[in-house]
Amino acid sequence: MKTEIMLSEEATLDPQDWTSIRTLGHQMLDDMLDYLQSAGQLPAWKKPSAYAVGSMNQPLPEQSQEAASVYEDFFNQVLPFNNNNVHPRFWAWVQGGGTPMGMLADMLASGMNSNVSLGDHMAMYVEKQVIGWAKEMMGFPSEASGILLSGGSLANITALVVARNHFNKTIRAKGLQSVQSQLIVYGSSETHNCAIKGIEVIGIGNDNFRRIPIDENYRIKTDELKAAIEADIAAGLTPFCIIGNAGTVNTGAIDPLTELSAIAKAYGCWFHIDGAFGAIPKILPEFQQQLAGIELADSLAFDYHKWLYVNYEVACVLIRDADAHRNAFTVQANYLVTHERGLSAGPEAFSNLGMELSRGFKALKVWMSLKENGMQKYRQLVRQNIRQAEYLANLIRLEDNLQLMAEVSLNIVCFRYATSQHTDDELNHINKEILMRLHEEGIALPSYTLLNGKYVIRAAITNHRSRLADFDALVNAVVSIGNDVAPTIKIND
Ligand SMILES: *Cc1c(COP(=O)(O)O)cnc(C)c1O
Repeated sequence: MKTEIMLSEEATLDPQDWTSIRTLGHQMLDDMLDYLQSAGQLPAWKKPSAYAVGSMNQPLPEQSQEAASVYEDFFNQVLPFNNNNVHPRFWAWVQGGGTPMGMLADMLASGMNSNVSLGDHMAMYVEKQVIGWAKEMMGFPSEASGILLSGGSLANITALVVARNHFNKTIRAKGLQSVQSQLIVYGSSETHNCAIKGIEVIGIGNDNFRRIPIDENYRIKTDELKAAIEADIAAGLTPFCIIGNAGTVNTGAIDPLTELSAIAKAYGCWFHIDGAFGAIPKILPEFQQQLAGIELADSLAFDYHKWLYVNYEVACVLIRDADAHRNAFTVQANYLVTHERGLSAGPEAFSNLGMELSRGFKALKVWMSLKENGMQKYRQLVRQNIRQAEYLANLIRLEDNLQLMAEVSLNIVCFRYATSQHTDDELNHINKEILMRLHEEGIALPSYTLLNGKYVIRAAITNHRSRLADFDALVNAVVSIGNDVAPTIKIND
């Protein structure tokens, strides 16, 4: 019997006219390469115009719009008001600048549209290759396990889930309610907030994170750590995880990692390292001593999108004990069983190694970037950023009205404008005003933090486009804006 189903017109989202989408695609490519090539000639930042912001408050589109006209909207309303971490004077928070190759790789990955959760297809093998390279970079054993994630936050959380489920094998089934003695996590008071969020997410609660005091160089005090662990044991609590920082977000401080590893061993704790950006100098021979201990961690989180300059977003978590990793996440589902042959065969499913089932092909931009540049080039660039931080610190030391506010141990420089006529409170106001003017005038994009209650301007240099002259410009601008602003701020007279 012939089916009665008839369709007046069978629709698809592919273009009817491939020639015009091809022309438009080439236009986009040219525009974006122009954009990256001239990134440094534009202001460091531009406030999104009222028109652009207003254009993002429209009703859900009902009718179709020409592809070229959609692109025009992007070009006029979105592109000009980027957060601009592609700019040579972007040093805000800790963000990498991406590369043309990374951009192109994302286009290829998106074109393939691979879902990298399971199956016998090449994207799976590319990610396995990238994880293998990560282990090599960080000195992890080849039997270790790992997965790419959107960022350091998810990498840290993923590690904490593994730590918790491995520490007590009943938690997956029975939940934390089944655990008699409360689990406690330790880290320095400089530990990144995403690790604290992770501690909340895994059900431990942030009251059960012990913020261990730091020394004058912002490194965890290990005697205080041991004392805290002993006190918790005496109180009937259960120490279960120590978080070490390889590069704190405020100042780039590196905790004594080997010592932390030994303490974790002595107390039967999981040893996790947050190395979001600060683990990357592990590739430099001159950091072997300072970063010794990374290879001893039970788990390590680090970003590719920060100090390896890969385009947003991509990070990695490595887990020493591959069984602990898969046992933390593997679920049985009839529709996900690996087969012997066909598309449903292939390597171990990534969906068994994290929370996500559907996953994009983030691995491609990492694989292509690492091949394009080679480790030699990355060593040169990471060193360059560290030298630039030293250069900036020296410029600051030479200026009477600038103060270096923390030891520069990596690529982060914290400083402020200061005069003897102002109180700390006033200086906080002055420096905040300086920062906002630096941004508004499009001069440079450092960010800020508080160190011991003092507002500091903070340059985190993970930028392969910065040149020494860019730091000269920053320092000159801070001094000149400071000289301008300081006389106007005198609240405690
Ligand atoms: C940036 C950062 C994170 C978070 O990483 P995302 O990639 O932004 O999620 C965690 N820890 C440190 C030390 C960081 O600098």
